[in-house]
Amino acid sequence: MHDPTDMAANGFEHQLAAITATALRADCVERDELLAVLASSDEDLLDVIAAAGRVRRKFFGRRVKLNYLVNMKSGMCPEDCGYCSQRLGSSAEILKYSWINPDDAASHAHCAIDAGAKRICLVAAGRGPADRDIERVADTIAAIKSSAPAVEVCACLGLLKQGQAERLREAGADAYNHNLNTSAENYARICSTHAFTDRAATVAAAKSAGLSPCSGAIVGMGESYEDIVDVALALRELQPDSVPVNFLIPFEGTPLGGHWELTPQRGLRILAMFRFAFPDVEVRIAGGREIHLRTLQPLALHLANSMFLGDYLTSQGQPGQDDRAMIADAGFVIEGLEEPTLPVERHDLVITRQRGAGTTTPANT
Ligand code: SF4
Repeated sequence: MHDPTDMAANGFEHQLAAITATALRADCVERDELLAVLASSDEDLLDVIAAAGRVRRKFFGRRVKLNYLVNMKSGMCPEDCGYCSQRLGSSAEILKYSWINPDDAASHAHCAIDAGAKRICLVAAGRGPADRDIERVADTIAAIKSSAPAVEVCACLGLLKQGQAERLREAGADAYNHNLNTSAENYARICSTHAFTDRAATVAAAKSAGLSPCSGAIVGMGESYEDIVDVALALRELQPDSVPVNFLIPFEGTPLGGHWELTPQRGLRILAMFRFAFPDVEVRIAGGREIHLRTLQPLALHLANSMFLGDYLTSQGQPGQDDRAMIADAGFVIEGLEEPTLPVERHDLVITRQRGAGTTTPANT
């Protein structure tokens, strides 16, 4: 008689092989398959990492792209996103300040570029920018690019109004980040002041303006496996070029303060699921990796091809030299400024979009 545990294990082994084959062709892995990755057991974890690692190596080799956040305006946001230390009513102990000047922002950026950062993310708290804020960011982009023209600059300023994405593109921004964060169904549970559809509309507007869309998720907020897969599928419809995966930093003084539900193993399964959902798209390990992946962080490099260097918006990351040592020890290399991140077909689409020659999209996402 067959042991039912062995039969289940063999069933997942076959399913994982099929998922891997689909992802290696850059085809769409189905919803139930993505759910099976999230629901797999700790015993299967190394097999899942090895399988997703093959997909990562096929499209991104052993390169790791480093990104650096410059927090241009911190705290005092009128929105109420439950995970955010800068939200309305937050009593989290964070620095609060209004816009830093373009030269100061550029000097932070240049230190990060010297330390290996390929993309600088200019972030400001708030529902969305006023037109004068867009001009401050335009000046900052000019100050950064005057001495580092090859660096990618991504703006992350909240919900965009008509014409603002175009102005950012004209000012030399390469990308725009706006995360969907969680599934449409779960969205009202984490925020009441704007809707999931508002966020999706801003990502679409950025893309139509020729900015490279960057949009991802936050996990560890009490969402179900279905919510995580559904936000991945909603992201896939928006066809982002980069997908940051954040692990909740449960700030005291926010509604999710003290909420710890992730384990390192769960975090790795989530990253593997995003790799299978986005085989040839930049998947980035974002906030919270140190506290949730802990000593298993190097395994995450086999899944994601990109990560933030150093500190996050309102919390400290591990020192940059530790990140660089971890990358080297795990056998990976830091991606150079001139090296394209994405595989050639996707890279060509980004260039075409940036030149405003159309928004043709690949068939497989
Ligand atoms: S809009 Fe941005 S800064 Fe404001 S509460 Fe939400 S996540 Fe935080």
